[in-house]
Amino acid sequence: MSTPVTIEGALRGLAAGEYSSVELTRHFLDVIRERNPVLNAVISTTDDIAIAQAEQADRDRQAGRGGPLAGVPILHKDIFCTEGARTSAGSKMLDNFVSPYSATAVEKLTKAGAIMVGKANMDEFAMGSSNENSFYGVVRNPWQTDRVPGGSSGGSAAAVAAGFCLAATGTDTGGSIRQPASFCGITGIKPTYGRVSRWGMIAYGSSLDQAGPMTRTAADAALMLQTMAGFDHRDSTSLDEPVPLFTEALDQPLAGLRIGLCKEYLQDGLDSGVETQVQNAIRELEGLGASLVEVSLPHTQYAVPAYYVIAPAECSANLSRFDGVRFGHRCDDPVDLEDLYTRSRSEGFGREVRQRIMVGAFALSAGYYDAYYRKAQQIRRLIKNDFISAFKTVDLIAGPVAPSTAFPLGDMTDDPVAMYLQDIFTVPSSLAGLPAMSIPAGFSDNLPVGLQLIGNYLDEGRMLNAAHQFQQRTDWHLRSPDTGEVS
Ligand code: GLN
Repeated sequence: MSTPVTIEGALRGLAAGEYSSVELTRHFLDVIRERNPVLNAVISTTDDIAIAQAEQADRDRQAGRGGPLAGVPILHKDIFCTEGARTSAGSKMLDNFVSPYSATAVEKLTKAGAIMVGKANMDEFAMGSSNENSFYGVVRNPWQTDRVPGGSSGGSAAAVAAGFCLAATGTDTGGSIRQPASFCGITGIKPTYGRVSRWGMIAYGSSLDQAGPMTRTAADAALMLQTMAGFDHRDSTSLDEPVPLFTEALDQPLAGLRIGLCKEYLQDGLDSGVETQVQNAIRELEGLGASLVEVSLPHTQYAVPAYYVIAPAECSANLSRFDGVRFGHRCDDPVDLEDLYTRSRSEGFGREVRQRIMVGAFALSAGYYDAYYRKAQQIRRLIKNDFISAFKTVDLIAGPVAPSTAFPLGDMTDDPVAMYLQDIFTVPSSLAGLPAMSIPAGFSDNLPVGLQLIGNYLDEGRMLNAAHQFQQRTDWHLRSPDTGEVS
C-alpha cells in the first residue's frame, strides 16, 4: 500500500480501490502504536469505533453513497466531546470522562465519512504554548524530539506531521492551532469566531475559542473546514452565515490581491531565521501577483497583557463547574463540602490551570474588575479597530506566527511570562475574532517556520486561496520530518 499523506490523496486512492478504508485505518492505528511511545501525540486510540466507521465507509463507497470525507482517518483533539470515547481535555479532572454525545464539529465530520482513530494530546484545558501542561505527559516535536511541538493543539500537529493520520481537529483560543502548526510544519486554520460551532467543545475562553482543521495542505484544510463550519442553534455565538465551498475558490489567481505587512510584527524580538523565511514567503506571494502594502496595528504590544487577563477571567468562570459534585474528579473521603471542593479541584487541576483560575478570579473580583477586566476589554476593542482600519486597504495581512521556531522542552516552564510572550503574533487576531492561518514557509536550523495569514471577517476563502497558490509553488508543506524530503 502506498500510504497517502493528504486527504485528497487518500480520497483518490480509496476511489481507485488501491486500498479500503479499513486497510487505511488499520495502517494509521499501527503507525500510532509503533511511534506514539516516543512522540506521545495521542492520548487514546479508538480502535473499535474506527474500524466500525471504516467498515461503514467502505460499504457506503461501494453503494455509491459516501460523504466528502468517506473513509479518511483523522484524530480529534481531546477537547472535543466524542460519544463513547474518553474526553479528557488533557486533565486529570476528566481522566475518566466518557462523553455521552459528540461535539457538533465532530458530528459533522463523522457524517461526512471521516474516521476517528483516536484523541490527540493537548495542554490541559487548552492552556499553554508548548504542550508541556498535559496530565498525560509532554508531546515531542517529530522534527527534533527534544523540542516542543507547540501548544495547545500540539498532539494534533505532531500527529499530522508524523503521519499518524491524514488530518486532525484543533482549537485556537490565542494561537493553539497556528503556533503548533508552525512548529510542526503543517497547515492550520483558525476560522472567524462563530464560524464553527463550539457546542461540545470543552470551554476555555468562550469569547475566543474556535475549532479548526490541521492538515498537510491548504486544499485539505478547505475541504475539512467547509465540512465543520455552519450555524448551530446549540451555540449562541454561532454565526448564521452561509458557508461557501472553500475548495472551489482555491485556483483563483492572486493578481490584484493586496497583502498587508504589519510593521509591528516585523521588528525586534523576531528570530532572524524566522524573519528570513517569512520575508522569502512574502516575496513568493508577491511573485504570484499580490501587491504588498505596509499597514500598522499600533496596539499590538498590548495584546498579550489584555489576552492574559481576558482568557484567565473566562477560564475561571468556565472551570468552576468542575467541583467534584457535578463534573470531574472527586477527592477521597471529604470531611465537609468545602474540603470536597478544595481537594477535588486542587487534585484535579494542574499547576498552570490553577494559576490561571487564580489570576482570572482576581481580575474579576469586585475591587479589581475596573482596573483589569474592563481595561482589558477596552484594549480588545482598540485592537479590533486597528484591524478594521487595516482591512480598509488590504485583503490579507501576512507575517510570522511565532517569534521563534520550536524551542527546547523545559526551556520556559519556569518562566510563564516568557511563555506568554510567545503568543504576541497570534493573540491580536484572536481578540478581534478574525480568521487566521499558518502555512509551512521554510526551515531555520532544520526546524519548520510558519507564515501567518490573517483574513477579514468570514474571508477564510481568500486566505485558503492564497495558501493553496503558495503551496502550488513551494513544497515545504510536503516535507517529512523523518527525511526532510518531500514525502
Ligand atoms: N498559548 C495561549 C494560552 O495559553 C493560547 C492557547 C490556546 O489558543 N488554546 O492561552
